[in-house]
Amino acid sequence: MSQGATESRGATEPRGAGQASPGPRPGPDLDLQRIAELQRQAEAAVAAAADLAELERLRVEWLGKKGRISLLLRQMGSVPPDLRPAFGQRANAAREAVEAALARRRQELEAQQEQRRLAAERVDVTLPGRPVLRGRRHPLRRVELEIIEIFRGLGFTVAEGPEVERDYYNFEALNIPPDHPARDMHDTFYLTGDILLRTHTSPVQVRYMLAKAPELPVRIIAPGRVYRRDDDATHSPMFHQVEGLLVDRGVSFAHLKGTLAEFARRMFGPDTRYRFRPSYFPFTEPSAEMDVSCPLCGGSGCRTCGGSGWIEILGSGLVHPKVLQAGGYDPEEVSGFAFGMGIERIAMIKYDIDDMRLFFQNDLRFLAQFR
Ligand SMILES: [Zn+2]
Repeated sequence: MSQGATESRGATEPRGAGQASPGPRPGPDLDLQRIAELQRQAEAAVAAAADLAELERLRVEWLGKKGRISLLLRQMGSVPPDLRPAFGQRANAAREAVEAALARRRQELEAQQEQRRLAAERVDVTLPGRPVLRGRRHPLRRVELEIIEIFRGLGFTVAEGPEVERDYYNFEALNIPPDHPARDMHDTFYLTGDILLRTHTSPVQVRYMLAKAPELPVRIIAPGRVYRRDDDATHSPMFHQVEGLLVDRGVSFAHLKGTLAEFARRMFGPDTRYRFRPSYFPFTEPSAEMDVSCPLCGGSGCRTCGGSGWIEILGSGLVHPKVLQAGGYDPEEVSGFAFGMGIERIAMIKYDIDDMRLFFQNDLRFLAQFR
């Protein structure tokens, strides 16, 4: 123990008394060998670290505040003063070596990680592109827009009204008496005794006139959903209508015929023929149903038109005086015509569709046919 530091620092010197009989202070050779051994252990562990998390754990274990190499440096106080420089130098060298090993391994692991990321995100530019599925309009919406466009061209504007409607606007103001079969619970969805789901778009007539009166002219179409307690191949509990209303001075049945004939030609083709058959609706007087020559067979008769060559497309008539009054107009001063058609029906005729339920099943094989 009394030997000079300079003579006994060799790492190859056999371990001697210090190990066999540890004294109160560790021998210098033993200390230096221990440092070298710790460094080797640390370097081996770092080189074998599998990932960055393990590497961080090793950094703390070896170089952290309470790390095994850091603790060495704190033991300086227990090293004899003459041996301290050599001890300190060796311990610092070990710390630097482990730091370097950590930095190397970190670089390697980061490079591996990057390689894995690049491999995972590799883009094969030779792959065919994924097709972008383009949506298209539902056939009912297409037909609705087509109808709107035709009537816009004739000077009509679009008006809308609530689908949840009062009994008054849906029935009473339209001259539908309380005992009328349409008011039956079997036909109408009632929410309360007074509030219901509108069974037609006609209440928009009254609502619009009340807002507009006494201004003239009234010239609207009102597209929208309506509800009835019906469900089969040609009826749906929810369907779509377009209502039309024109009120002005001196409006006659001739105006009604001219307007709807023009609509039929634009909708079904320039050669379309039409006819009006007398009918009855509570809110028009006189009333008529309009047929057009079957657009599928041209009038010669087919399955769609039932062999008759004609297809009914809408109901119409001159606005009943009581409806004009309910709308705030004087039937002595003004007159008007109104009509209503089912959008489903027009679409079924136009596209030769025999089951209305197809419109609501969202089967892409069906919907994709309408380009
Ligand atoms: Zn036909």
